[in-house]
Amino acid sequence: MDPYHELNPQVSKQCESLRDEAHRFAAEVMRPGAAAIDRLDDPRSLTAPDSPLMQVFKAAYGLGYHSAAIPTHLGGLGLSPVGVHMLLEELGWGSAGITLSLVASSVPAMAMIADGRPELMETFVRPFAENRDASWIGCWALSELRHGSDHFLVGSDEFRYPTSGAQLVARVAGPDYLVNGSKASWITNGGIATHALCSVAIEPSKAAQGFLIIPLNLPGVSRGEQPRKMGQREMNQGALMFEDTRVPRHFMLKGEGFELEVVRMLAYAHSCMGAVITGTARAAYEEALEHAKRRRQGGRRICDHQLVQERLFEMFTEVEACRALSRAALIHNLEAATPSLEAAIAAKSYCTRTAFRIADTAMQLFGADGFTAGNLIEKLFRDARLSTVEQGTNEVLALAGARRIL
Ligand SMILES: Cc1cc2nc3c(=O)[nH]c(=O)nc-3n(C[C@H](O)[C@H](O)[C@H](O)COP(=O)(O)OP(=O)(O)OC[C@H]3O[C@@H](n4cnc5c(N)ncnc54)[C@H](O)[C@@H]3O)c2cc1C
Repeated sequence: MDPYHELNPQVSKQCESLRDEAHRFAAEVMRPGAAAIDRLDDPRSLTAPDSPLMQVFKAAYGLGYHSAAIPTHLGGLGLSPVGVHMLLEELGWGSAGITLSLVASSVPAMAMIADGRPELMETFVRPFAENRDASWIGCWALSELRHGSDHFLVGSDEFRYPTSGAQLVARVAGPDYLVNGSKASWITNGGIATHALCSVAIEPSKAAQGFLIIPLNLPGVSRGEQPRKMGQREMNQGALMFEDTRVPRHFMLKGEGFELEVVRMLAYAHSCMGAVITGTARAAYEEALEHAKRRRQGGRRICDHQLVQERLFEMFTEVEACRALSRAALIHNLEAATPSLEAAIAAKSYCTRTAFRIADTAMQLFGADGFTAGNLIEKLFRDARLSTVEQGTNEVLALAGARRIL
């Protein structure tokens, strides 16, 4: 548990009790739920209304965890940035996959809040934030079959159409957009979401892009393939397909321009991911620490061997660094008028890289025991590995970050 929180004057009693409640929820609901889902063979079984995933989602929504960063006047929990960070770290400790799904669910609402139009607040944001039975689930969709990294290289030629050809296109048709095309099978919540924030190319030019909010119960919407993954298997993902889907024109985000909207969205998503994966890193460190205190070799507990002590303290240091970096990025990106995508990328890529390194070291400390199916450390290792590609590969994000500091 965050050992220095009491030294931070920003951390109120309210945050502390929230963190304790979140930790109980992560331990008693999320970890067992995620472990049960991890053993399922068919990812499509997650979309059933009574699936283990939906049960955890309903419980999390019941506590308002999906709307942690949304202000109270719009129906959210309205936590301070430090409170949001604490919550995400605790939930990430319980399950990275489910927590990142909850974050993904909140992304369309956060983008609409930045847009600011009252009709979007009443049509989507408030019903989503006030929802307590997970019947409002959001997702955000940049990735397409032929465009993975391209969409994360903000500011580059690859990022801009028309050179590479968009696969989801919106054409003006009277009061609506007529939407045709598809989004990749990697869209988090793709099989369960009720509404999506989709990047689209706008015809006739295709040079123009925008973010369109698409209710997924509209005629012409269908769901596609759901990948079977090595890690974060408790996260539902799936393709979205659109055929002559009519979407009201005022559901297109306005104002800041597409590039800045992507920057704002990714600054939020990457900062949150840093916090969530700090929880995963801490979980791996704690597993290693407990194992090292328990397991005896050479007549001593393995934590009494100096080389093991050095590795444990290195892990402790790295968790502290993850927390500090991701917390700073999240505070900035929830508070400042101008987003810092570079700070968010630094947090996302450092925390995911570090979590994977910690999980790898922890596996080594477990010896053969670590490789047995059903051992938590083995799952954390798989979950952390995925995070280095999720939401943009760390290499590509470094290129996007470099563009912003040069
Ligand atoms: C668990 C998970 C959840 C996800 N959730 C979402 C979601 O909710 N919404 C969404 O839109 N997407 C989502 N994605 C998709 C994710 O954003 C992409 O997988 C990621 O951006 C990488 O794209 P790709 O898989 O197509 O790899 P590719 O783009 O094909 O890249 C393959 C390799 O080439 C490298 N590469 C590619 N282009 C360049 C370049 N220009 N310069 C240098 N190297 C390059 C990459 O670093 C990588 O190593 C998710 C993915 C995962 C794994």
